[in-house]
Amino acid sequence: MVTGSDLVPRLTMQYEPATYRRRIAGHDVIIHCHHYNARLQRTIEGARGIDGKGILVGAAEVVFGDQLARALRPGDDEVTRWAVAELLYRHLGFGRIDLSRIGEGIVTADSSHFVEGWLAGLGETTDNVCSFTEGYLQGAVHAVTGAAVRVREVECMARGAGRCRFEVDRGERPAVAANHKEPAIASPREPGGPYAKSAHVDEQAIIDAVVGMPMIGDDAGLIPAFSVYLANMPADFYNRICIGFVEAMRGLGRDKAAIRLLVSDAEHCGMNTFRGIMHSPEWDGLIAPMVRDRADALHAIIAISNALGWGDWHVTAHTPRTLALESRYGYEAVGYREYRGLAAAPQCAMLTGVAAGVMELVYGEGTVEERYGTFSAREERCVGCGEPSCNFAVEQVE
Ligand SMILES: [Zn+2]
Ligand SMILES: [Zn+2]
Repeated sequence: MVTGSDLVPRLTMQYEPATYRRRIAGHDVIIHCHHYNARLQRTIEGARGIDGKGILVGAAEVVFGDQLARALRPGDDEVTRWAVAELLYRHLGFGRIDLSRIGEGIVTADSSHFVEGWLAGLGETTDNVCSFTEGYLQGAVHAVTGAAVRVREVECMARGAGRCRFEVDRGERPAVAANHKEPAIASPREPGGPYAKSAHVDEQAIIDAVVGMPMIGDDAGLIPAFSVYLANMPADFYNRICIGFVEAMRGLGRDKAAIRLLVSDAEHCGMNTFRGIMHSPEWDGLIAPMVRDRADALHAIIAISNALGWGDWHVTAHTPRTLALESRYGYEAVGYREYRGLAAAPQCAMLTGVAAGVMELVYGEGTVEERYGTFSAREERCVGCGEPSCNFAVEQVE
């Protein structure tokens, strides 16, 4: 059997400077915090009239079945394959799952990124919240054994249980779908810009430092950094759940409302994540010495978000009341093209919301809730619609 430490090199992150993408086991991963991930889940599962939980479970099954398959090697025995499944989950920052009793159909988890996110921001719940883990486990069983199973959470730490507990149902169900994508846009179209810069902020030094930080799960499978819990989420997962959510809501005539909800979640995310970052020792050590005014802080934040894989985006114009950004290779736009082809409308809800959230954080006053909505952002052009870049315009709300 191969031991755990021998398996870690399979999951080494590669950062691609040309696209600002982080790649683990063949998948581009995006670093977001527990607030964003839990909020996105609540938005999708909380929408009436659609099967939001099914969208999350299905996306996790397909994406992690694929990512895990790419982390396996032809000579791996079954024990090693389960070890890789446990390790990938922990390494990406989702928590710790115990697969030692999977043969009996039982899985337990004693730490969870999503439970942390739920308890931190969303309060008491009467439901088990680990839909994501159910989907991950279904994908893992498929990658390891080839079987299509249903996994159901029967106890959850979010409801006070000592650990989350899952049961595997091996009854009849449809086969696991492949993660089918068409290669749409291989790389950003040159050239971008011109971009606005700060004379004081060394963006490349910030990117190098953040990319050099080991953002992988600790013993408990969590990534506490910048005063939040981070996780490495495959872009494919975000794209599948967001596209799936908007399409399901379109069936009810509510797709515009769905996009507004996704933008709103990202607006909160931008403020929460970067507020944490701006109050972290990492910020004090590296970035604070470069920051003389609020515009410098804004440029530093955009550099950090590029290191986190958010967008390959850059400031094209900036005043204290307005911001214009260009993104040439954001995962939402590129992912839409891969999964669906040309879009009829801009697709980058995450970047749109974060663009407003960043301005609210840098120039606003008060709590996150008091700042929320004081800037509005819109995506004016999108790679998803065939444009060479995505362009975002942010304005202070009068
Ligand atoms: Zn749970
Ligand atoms: Zn776009």
